[in-house]
Amino acid sequence: MFGTTLALLGALLASATALAQPPERFDIAITVDDLPAHGPLPSGMTRADIAASHVALFKARGVPEAFGFVNANRLEQEPDSAAALATWRSAGHPLGNHAYSHLSLDAAPTLAAWQADVAAGEAAVAARMTGQDWRWFRYPYLSTGTDPVRRGAALAWLTAQGYRLAGVSVSFDDWAYTDAYTHCLARNDSAAIGAMKKQYLDEVDDGIARMKAASRQLFGRVIPQVLLTHVGAWSAATLPDVLERLEAAGARYVTLASAQADAAYAQAAGGDVVENEARRRGIALPRPPARRLDPATVCRQGSAD
Ligand SMILES: [Zn+2]
Repeated sequence: MFGTTLALLGALLASATALAQPPERFDIAITVDDLPAHGPLPSGMTRADIAASHVALFKARGVPEAFGFVNANRLEQEPDSAAALATWRSAGHPLGNHAYSHLSLDAAPTLAAWQADVAAGEAAVAARMTGQDWRWFRYPYLSTGTDPVRRGAALAWLTAQGYRLAGVSVSFDDWAYTDAYTHCLARNDSAAIGAMKKQYLDEVDDGIARMKAASRQLFGRVIPQVLLTHVGAWSAATLPDVLERLEAAGARYVTLASAQADAAYAQAAGGDVVENEARRRGIALPRPPARRLDPATVCRQGSAD
């Protein structure tokens, strides 16, 4: 009886020790798309507020660099949003080009039209990055070109322009919630916002687990990660929880150049490094579970709209 109790105690202690083991560390770079203005702006908020909450969070969590990718047309649509870029730069975070109007390489009528959109995005970035390397490009929609001829020509042209290409390895689709969040704030529907946050953070937990599993399956290790997030009101509200979850999973923040120095990014050419590798090898990665709440419809129905 006593021996059994001791054995049970030993087993319990062993499992407690296993639980207390810190998670395997991995590097992660933070990249933020659609500066200075992603998605609709909730009333009472400014673009500079959203940027300021991001950079305050990065400072508090010891993020050494958050690379921001700019759609310069937003500066003309919302002139006040220039303050968001000033906030970003005064915190020391770099800016790169995300094409002037977020034109997809696949959707562009011609390659020349797409090149013109990329070129039109340069001046606003260069002016804010004097003396620093701003020639980093993030493909809008991560669309690197499904047509092989256009894909190769765009890549060759970007390389000739001196661009380095920002890859991605993980994203939690924060962009999908930005519109619904604005509608829910307008209705003051805190119950709906709470339900969306619960769902989203469950998706983040699942996404981190799938991120590690896919990396181990494809590369035999957890590669340095590049997180893609967006500078919207939803991200401002949820990124503190997202970073907390990443840190609990073993994340250590690094620069984009540091993450992409890893061999896993050698062939990435600016797209999703994990999906590209899986496609190349014919491996079907597990998909996220179906959503309980559809952010495309939340806070849209009823008379309050
Ligand atoms: Zn974008």
